Amino acid sequence: MSRVMKSSSQKMSKKGRPSTTVATGVKRRPKQKKPQLLRGMKDVLSPEQPYWEYVLESSRQTSRAYGYDRIDTPIVEELQLFTRSIGGTTDIVEKEMYAFETKGGDLVALRPEMTAGICRAYVEHGMMNLPQPVKLWTDGSCFRYDRPQAGRYREFHQVDWEIIGSAHPALDAEMIAVGTHLLTDLGLGVIALVNSIGCGECRPPYLAVLKDYYRTHRKRLCEDCQVRFSKNPLRLLDCKNEQCRALGNEAPQSVDHLCDACREHFTKVLEYLDESQVKYRLQPRLVRGLDYYTRTVFEFILERDQEEMNPSALLSGGRYDRLIAILGGLESTPAVGMAMGVERVILAVKEFGVEVSPEPKPDVFFAQIGETARKASFKIFEELRQAGIAAAANIAKNGLSDQLSLANKANARITLILGQKEMIDHTIILRDMETGSQETIAQDKLVEILKKRLHH
Ligand code: AMP
Repeated sequence: MSRVMKSSSQKMSKKGRPSTTVATGVKRRPKQKKPQLLRGMKDVLSPEQPYWEYVLESSRQTSRAYGYDRIDTPIVEELQLFTRSIGGTTDIVEKEMYAFETKGGDLVALRPEMTAGICRAYVEHGMMNLPQPVKLWTDGSCFRYDRPQAGRYREFHQVDWEIIGSAHPALDAEMIAVGTHLLTDLGLGVIALVNSIGCGECRPPYLAVLKDYYRTHRKRLCEDCQVRFSKNPLRLLDCKNEQCRALGNEAPQSVDHLCDACREHFTKVLEYLDESQVKYRLQPRLVRGLDYYTRTVFEFILERDQEEMNPSALLSGGRYDRLIAILGGLESTPAVGMAMGVERVILAVKEFGVEVSPEPKPDVFFAQIGETARKASFKIFEELRQAGIAAAANIAKNGLSDQLSLANKANARITLILGQKEMIDHTIILRDMETGSQETIAQDKLVEILKKRLHH
């Protein structure tokens, strides 16, 4: 007996799905909710692809130009990698992680950012034995279970750069310069906001001063900040609530409480930035949502958003001198990194009206008439592909007029027409779609003639 009892009115349809017979005699499948895109996720359809290509290709070129090597790490990692690195009391870890237990009982999470995975790989593959620093870059999707809104998604894409194995302040500046050049090349007017949040030496005494200040105003803090006050006081400065922001503006600044080494480091970073063509501004209340940062932190916003209350960051990063050690690497492996939000950059590129090159059109459209021509077309497609000629077609169609209208829609410059007569003569018709003129050529000359016409 089957495990699931079916009611007498429910039979299996041909495809094995249950169907219901209703009083009218018409068979209907029980209504099921259609599968839908998850909230905060998106499909990138064809018209959107040229923007992705534009941003990702520029990122690739910039990474190559500055000597970064590509690395790819898995989207799923051990949960503890993120709790240990990003910090157990951050919003990302506390509220936004896509964490789950696998069938084998492992606690894992979808990566909410790239740095932790890259640092794990650095330690695990002994990259400390390579000449230091190691410069790595990657791109891919990240996941945060946040409230979706414009420019904030639950699956989003980052391009990420890391320089691991040097504490030199020139590298902080180089990173900010790379961000500036890339965003400027993409056609965006941006400015880098820069701050230093100190190190393990000077941050605790600064946090004590910060808490003293906020203690006297505790009643005016929002609900989230009441928790931040005891758990993660640096993040008090980052609250978007209007009243908390007003308090933040008067709060003690980390730059005034840096130890000598951190002050010297930051001064050097600014000196290097002054030498470069980077547009930057000191932003004494800039902190980051991830605990692993030390010393320099920065983020890029659109220059025109400078006066806005909550400008959206296109690219953010900073120094993280303790992270590699936390993940089991050598005690002193300082590093600096940054990540760019691809969706946010694309939104800005569109808003700025930057023209991106459209997806390349097919070189030719191939129309075939009749079964013999259809069979012969497979061989011709392969010859075209090997010659680097992109051919569009719809070999399921028979009629010539249908195929010519497809050729028009595909915007191909040339349409090839292969019919019964051409099959017998070993010829093919070449139709110029702009002028409408046609000529018949020998099939074995096709590639050669097309190459000339298309200037391949
Ligand atoms: P973070 O890893 O938080 O430093 O973020 C680096 C960059 O990723 C930010 O500057 C944003 O451009 C982008 N980003 C972060 N979170 C999201 C999100 N939920 N949706 C879209 N982009 C994001």
